[in-house]
Amino acid sequence: MPGYEPFLLCDFHVHTTWSDGRLSVRDVVDLYGQTGRFDVIAITDHILMKRDLMARAGRMLTLGRKQFSVTPERFDAYLRDVARESKRAEKLYNLLVIPGAEITQNHIQSRKNSHIIALNIKEHISADQPAEEILREIRRQRGVSIACHPHHRTTRRIEISTCYLWDHRKKLADLVDVWEAANRDDLFSVTSLKHFPYIANSDFHKPKHLYSWKTLLRCDKNWESVAEAIRSNVDIALTLYRNGSCTAAEREGEGATGAAGDR
Ligand code: ZN
Ligand code: ZN
Repeated sequence: MPGYEPFLLCDFHVHTTWSDGRLSVRDVVDLYGQTGRFDVIAITDHILMKRDLMARAGRMLTLGRKQFSVTPERFDAYLRDVARESKRAEKLYNLLVIPGAEITQNHIQSRKNSHIIALNIKEHISADQPAEEILREIRRQRGVSIACHPHHRTTRRIEISTCYLWDHRKKLADLVDVWEAANRDDLFSVTSLKHFPYIANSDFHKPKHLYSWKTLLRCDKNWESVAEAIRSNVDIALTLYRNGSCTAAEREGEGATGAAGDR
């Protein structure tokens, strides 16, 4: 739309091999950068609860080879890796890379589960505390909090619902900066209908997740402007970033396996 440019194409929810993603931070940067389309991405690997059952099962299955959580001991090395790749991304692709984490609670009692992204935090945040405390800690660190897939209800037995924040939105709305109205292939219309501030992310775990819901922001390409644009939530739009070259049948296949996996 003439006069309404430029919007920045953004994805604020990306996992790497620091938790359960398939690609390293460097490979993620190259994948997004080489499209020539993206302006802003955030690396948001999982911080899990100490006794996360799924991670324990996963570690057993991979004989301890794969880590599923950015533990306190690994957090500084994680931030250094993201900072290094962020510099490279800016130089090579003019891509802004924001550090972050997804503070992930997978209780057996799924009513209590929340997944909260913390953008641009400087210190590790434990997942072993109530969601309210996590949100306060993100504020204290002057980060931005995102309620991830807040309306994701269990549809399969091994899946985990993450509705705690949404179910308690009256109490928590002031503490949550923004809600994911779309995650990968899913649109949570109930979020936007309530006029909450919204955002759309891929929840990237593997290359095909590049093609998914994304956010358009109209602001300058630096952290302060992006944070302000997310919070004020005025010049914002959701967009479905599609693979122009893939067939409808391929897209259908992606949808069937994409939505449920890796949560
Ligand atoms: Zn995620
Ligand atoms: Zn999640």
